[in-house]
Amino acid sequence: MQDGGMRRRFPAPTSAIVVGAGMVGLATAWHLRRAGLAVRVVEADRVAAGSSWGNAGWLTPPITTPLPEPAILRTGLRAMFSVTSPLYVPLRPDTVLIRFLLGFLRHSTPAAWHRAMQAYIPLNHRALAAFDELSEGGVTEPTHAAEPFLACFAGAEEHRLLMEEFEQIRAAGQPVTADLISGAEVRRIAPAVSEGIANAIRLEGTRFLHPPHYLEALASAVRREGATIHERTQVTEVSGGRPSTPAGVRVMTEEGEERWSADVVVLATGAWLGRLARPFGVQTVVQAGRGYSFTVPVDPMPRVPLYFPIQRVACTPLGDRYRVAGMMEFRRPGEPLDPRRIDAIVRATRPLLTGADFDDRQDEWVGSRPCTPDGLPLVGPTRSPRVIAAGGHGMWGITLGPLTGRLVAELVTTGATPDLLRPLDPLR
Ligand SMILES: Cc1cc2nc3c(=O)[nH]c(=O)nc-3n(C[C@H](O)[C@H](O)[C@H](O)COP(=O)(O)OP(=O)(O)OC[C@H]3O[C@@H](n4cnc5c(N)ncnc54)[C@H](O)[C@@H]3O)c2cc1C
Repeated sequence: MQDGGMRRRFPAPTSAIVVGAGMVGLATAWHLRRAGLAVRVVEADRVAAGSSWGNAGWLTPPITTPLPEPAILRTGLRAMFSVTSPLYVPLRPDTVLIRFLLGFLRHSTPAAWHRAMQAYIPLNHRALAAFDELSEGGVTEPTHAAEPFLACFAGAEEHRLLMEEFEQIRAAGQPVTADLISGAEVRRIAPAVSEGIANAIRLEGTRFLHPPHYLEALASAVRREGATIHERTQVTEVSGGRPSTPAGVRVMTEEGEERWSADVVVLATGAWLGRLARPFGVQTVVQAGRGYSFTVPVDPMPRVPLYFPIQRVACTPLGDRYRVAGMMEFRRPGEPLDPRRIDAIVRATRPLLTGADFDDRQDEWVGSRPCTPDGLPLVGPTRSPRVIAAGGHGMWGITLGPLTGRLVAELVTTGATPDLLRPLDPLR
């Protein structure tokens, strides 16, 4: 175990390297710059090349909950091995995947879910304020209040399961305000929704954003604050990190030579976290939970996000097009897009969203949610107090990214682990 809230044993850092330019890395870089550190962001590909680009852009603290949950054992396992199922696990030996699945099943119990919820609740409570802070600090792309957020159902009784889940979330201490509205009311709000939708749950207290625009705006703000972002530069190794040496962490890149060093390094490499973090004692596996998305024109364009829980499809307005996202495919992050998954999303959604033209698809995309077996992110100091892990947010790295950046900057500048990060200890 590491030394939790104890004060740092080395002078206050003045420089930092952040590896990864997704939501978590960029938000961290922004806060570290604001705290006065010299900051370099090093990104293997380009800004938002990972999961932070094609996601659904929901900022939904009321339903930001751990992925392993008891219902997965009832419904998920049955569906797991079909390529058209919303949850797909290939039958092939892969030690990371096997370790992940065993851990995931172990944490899919009511007690483990409840424990993880206690970590999420205080984070959720502050998640949206962290977006307001970025916006007040000069991030120009807005977040939009979802007025309202609708979870739509074709069968009149299908909403019961989600309502029960909301009840459990409430019982765990997370406020959820939701009510049931009729199909007619759904179509008054979003006329493109099919006559086949019987009703919907209207959820309060959520927002959404345009992920590509938001990440670009955040990267611009990071640059304006004075940080440098090196794109197309893959970090191959992080070394050093002994508390006693100043500028003690070295970062090597593909060229095989030391490129930069800094007082602290933050690893914000999403689904790739394991590779660089493992030498610093992070044993928890991070498994890519790959999701797919595309955009379509919809007439008339819904102004609100729509969720189809039975089909596990998430939709979000992105300017003049509508993003449709779904699937949870446990494969390696670099594998190519599998068109069968896109077809499966189209088949599931076409009858529900009759105003959409599914033949005019653009931006077909696959990306990797960084999933942990216990459903909690890995954020905090590693075995080296100078090397900080910031990843593993699974389904919720957009909602929780800005707050994570703020808390990591607090950790780096004060040397003390904020209470909210304690359950996320990457050495757990
Ligand atoms: C279909 C789908 C829908 C989703 N919807 C939502 C949603 O509605 N709301 C929500 O909150 N979350 C959502 N998520 C989850 C969210 O997208 C992720 O949790 C979040 O983007 C993770 O951000 P990150 O910065 O940790 O990782 P990433 O965005 O993946 O960034 C990691 C970056 O690190 C870089 N990198 C990796 N290795 C190296 C290296 N060695 N050297 C240099 N750079 C490296 C990568 O290129 C990448 O750019 C969704 C995900 C998917 C797939």
